[in-house]
Amino acid sequence: MPRPIHALIHTDALAHNLQRCRQAAGEARVWAVVKANAYGHGIERVYEGLRGADGFALLDLAEAQRIRQLGWRGPILLLEGVFEPRDLELCSRLGLWHTVHDDAQMEMLAGHKTLQPHKVFLKLDSGMHRLGFAPERFRAAYARLQALPQVEDIGLMTHFATADVAEPGVAAAWPCFQAATAELPGERSVCNSAALLRQPQLAEQTDWVRPGIALYGSSPDFPEHGIAHWGLQPTMSLRSQLISVRELQPGDAIGYGATFTAERPLRVGIVACGYADGYPRVAPTGTPVLVAGHRSRTLGRVSMDMLAVDLTPATTQIPADFAPRVGTEVTLWGRSGGGAVLPIDEVAQAAGTLGYELMCALAPRVPTEVEGADEAAG
Ligand SMILES: *Cc1c(COP(=O)(O)O)cnc(C)c1O
Repeated sequence: MPRPIHALIHTDALAHNLQRCRQAAGEARVWAVVKANAYGHGIERVYEGLRGADGFALLDLAEAQRIRQLGWRGPILLLEGVFEPRDLELCSRLGLWHTVHDDAQMEMLAGHKTLQPHKVFLKLDSGMHRLGFAPERFRAAYARLQALPQVEDIGLMTHFATADVAEPGVAAAWPCFQAATAELPGERSVCNSAALLRQPQLAEQTDWVRPGIALYGSSPDFPEHGIAHWGLQPTMSLRSQLISVRELQPGDAIGYGATFTAERPLRVGIVACGYADGYPRVAPTGTPVLVAGHRSRTLGRVSMDMLAVDLTPATTQIPADFAPRVGTEVTLWGRSGGGAVLPIDEVAQAAGTLGYELMCALAPRVPTEVEGADEAAG
């Protein structure tokens, strides 16, 4: 038998979260953001759940090719645009829309021989200062694009730096976008997950939204709001099993570095999951975990292939009449077999990071299955 660790991708939850984003988006169309291999889920594994989107947005030409291979004929947007001139040939061939965020990309486009004019999104830097044209240069860039015979359609976009917090939120960035794009024709796209859920009125005033993280069942503004607040469901469950159960006496330490010492008798379990599976090594004692669906906590340091969890009824939510044993299911994040939910955001917070990073870091060695919409109902 292989190690009992595995990940499940929940097709029903992806479809549900997409629907939830659509509801917030109103009339705006939805780019499902599937960059970074669909936030670690695997593009092929999320396709069924997300194919109800109006388009797919990503960064990598190889990922765009994979979506076309899955049979997707609709829009695909390259969020960082092209990296070298010959990427434009593939854009022509695959019919990709691409962002233009920089003069270098403008030059490439001007030199591109194409039979099929391109759809592009011109990107404004509204304050993130990462990509995009500065507001004072935006109109000149637009005019230059408009004059290029290689360009058929120009959309207008920006990406918010602080849409996930109340202060400053989009208080400066949205007016900046409005001013820079006033009177310019073209479809508009500004909302990531945080802006879409927190400021749905911006979706109403634009044509396309670009949710990523919300589709994958992680809250864009945790801990202010969790997924239950936003009506989102986990789409990735990382599950394993206990491979050992033992008793600690007061004074016994557990794991490398002996960072945790029992002060009272504790029953503990060893789980087949470690940092080589993508579980964060920095997750400290107390990081939440589900044992047979009951909330518990990790103890001591996470090793490469194992971690320890508390099985003591008095210090966890494990009922006194439940006896965990070798083979008992442990859910590191997501949905337990019985349906209990441990949001990835809570694990991420304990480890000082975000749900984004944990899902992207799921290790290739973890066998991953897609749970289809049918058997996952309910
Ligand atoms: C990643 C990304 C998004 C999606 O962001 P989330 O926070 O995951 O919703 C939207 N737009 C751009 C340009 C991005 O790079």
